[in-house]
Amino acid sequence: MLSAFFDSVVDLITRTSTDLPPDVRAAMGQALAAEAPATRAGQAMTIIAQNIDQATSCEGPICQDTGMPTFEVKVPLGANQIWMRAQIREAVAEATRRGKLRPNSVDSITGENSGNNLGPGTPIIHFDQWENPDIEIKLILKGGGCENTNAQYSVPTELDHLGRADRSLEGVRKCILHAVWKAQGKGCSPGAVGVCIGGDRTSGYTHAKEQLFRTLDDRNPDARLAAIEDAIMEDANRLTVGPMGFSGRTSLIGCKIGVQNRLPASFFVSVAYDCWAFRRLGVRLDPTSGAITSWLYRDATVPSVPMLSPEAVAAGFPRTGREISLSAPISDAQVRALRVGDVVLISGRVFTGRDAVHAHLMKNAPPVDLTGAVLYHCGPVVAKDGDTWRVTAAGPTTSIREEPYQAEIIKRYGVRVVIGKGGMGAKTLAGLEASGAVYLNAIGGAAQFYARCIQRVDGVSLMEFGTPEAMWHLDVCDFPAIVTMDAHGSSLHKEVEDASGKILETLA
Ligand code: SF4
Repeated sequence: MLSAFFDSVVDLITRTSTDLPPDVRAAMGQALAAEAPATRAGQAMTIIAQNIDQATSCEGPICQDTGMPTFEVKVPLGANQIWMRAQIREAVAEATRRGKLRPNSVDSITGENSGNNLGPGTPIIHFDQWENPDIEIKLILKGGGCENTNAQYSVPTELDHLGRADRSLEGVRKCILHAVWKAQGKGCSPGAVGVCIGGDRTSGYTHAKEQLFRTLDDRNPDARLAAIEDAIMEDANRLTVGPMGFSGRTSLIGCKIGVQNRLPASFFVSVAYDCWAFRRLGVRLDPTSGAITSWLYRDATVPSVPMLSPEAVAAGFPRTGREISLSAPISDAQVRALRVGDVVLISGRVFTGRDAVHAHLMKNAPPVDLTGAVLYHCGPVVAKDGDTWRVTAAGPTTSIREEPYQAEIIKRYGVRVVIGKGGMGAKTLAGLEASGAVYLNAIGGAAQFYARCIQRVDGVSLMEFGTPEAMWHLDVCDFPAIVTMDAHGSSLHKEVEDASGKILETLA
């Protein structure tokens, strides 16, 4: 029975995690061309482009956060959905074993990672019947950083910088713009938004996410919605949030809007934000064998078009000669010499730490000496070769989640450098100044690029938290990141948010 079904789903997952579809590549190519190479935004886009090409060539995850696998399956009448669901779940576990997906399914109460991406509610699999004889499976992998920037508005409502959003298409436009502005770089901009006008709170979010299955270059058949999509693309890219929130020309690569009926008393605008690592593909399957008969979103006979020339990929990080090299342990004087905008190349020992490590360090002594240390907000994808660990994907995770803890951890243990993405808040900024530390923004999603900066894994602590949450001891070389919060009270994130907020006012 459908003997090739399992392998077809594993192929779909693998390709989706490692190779961006042509429409996203084209949009990212335009974004790359729009930024001057020697600017922060230009350097970020070059790293992103290198990362996309590296992931394709090594068949490695584009981003270490391989997201919540969400399958949309269409089956002919009479298909055995129970069997297919079980096969899809097995395929997800297999892709996780092969390192194409990071173990991402965590018990919401205990925090325990299931290790294979299976658990209550994960993966998400939606079935629909259709009149066609074949089977269609679409997959989107949407990570936590961008998921956390989703927004839902109940209109009428008052919005920062934009004033009142009414129950009208003009109100909808304001809500979407507000969501893009609010996301800044936290969802790894430039991103794309799927939007639902109406529905209830749950169906609104579901339909918004479904819009992300449209190609970025399609045209909304509803002229009213097409007009708002155009207006949003124009206005959002005037905000100058830019790649990773560094300020720049491209903040959004797509806006796709759908509509659902609503209750008379409710009017929701739901916004599903997806990052530049917009991983979405699909397949059609033979209904008798389960073999792939065609791919959706890509022509399987045409190789993926590289973002850069092979020489540009091989050249690595585009240096200007102004980069500052630092090696841990780092001193107070070295940190205080850094200013927002400086590009730093880190070498030597780096420790990873994200949610579980931060919560642990608030109550327990660290398992290693963190004096002068570099703490990297990262949940890597790792593989074990015999007794040796190898990092296969290692981009930064969203730092703002550690805002309640970071200043205290820096102060208590003497951490000098925090690397993450999306920036942190006022409490951490004050802590950096008081304790003598800096925050470096690495390029979100650049998991392959950063994995190549890691020379080896020297050890691991707190493995009981699972591989993404453990504290990995990494030996890195010339790991590039940009100072976005310094020890003098300056924050690029606040500057860009304030400046883009002023522009938002002109778009009200
Ligand atoms: S690119 Fe950024 S937002 Fe997207 S999945 Fe990766 S870390 Fe998360």
